[in-house]
Amino acid sequence: MIERTAAQAPTRQEVVLYNRRVSEAALRAADRRRREDDAPRLRGAVPALDSLRLEIEERRGGGVLAGGAHIRRIMVEHAPALFDLPCGDRACKDGGHDLTRTILGALQRGEPRFEGEDRCSGSLGEAPCGSVLRYVGIATYR
Ligand SMILES: [Zn+2]
Repeated sequence: MIERTAAQAPTRQEVVLYNRRVSEAALRAADRRRREDDAPRLRGAVPALDSLRLEIEERRGGGVLAGGAHIRRIMVEHAPALFDLPCGDRACKDGGHDLTRTILGALQRGEPRFEGEDRCSGSLGEAPCGSVLRYVGIATYR
């Protein structure tokens, strides 16, 4: 009779669950790329825009998420007019921050600096994710 211990290799069910999570993440990434390719170009949406930088910080429960604070420089010449950022928590399901409308609005008004925040509506298992992304946009125009 063979007894299993906790230290043994993962069960088949665990492997299947792991692979499913990985492929869901890959599908989400492919879907994001497709939407970026399909979106109108930023240059067309805001012709006067010369440069754009987004300072991003994502927090939950008072702590900054891993990888949650960073600066994004937008390649204005080639970027899509789409600001749909993934949730900073990789375990989050169906989350993310779609800032497209608010950021495009600020750029079209020619604002040199704008900021805002967005709460993730995804879920972590049974619980809501609820991470809050704060952003500051710094833009120049020509
Ligand atoms: Zn989330």
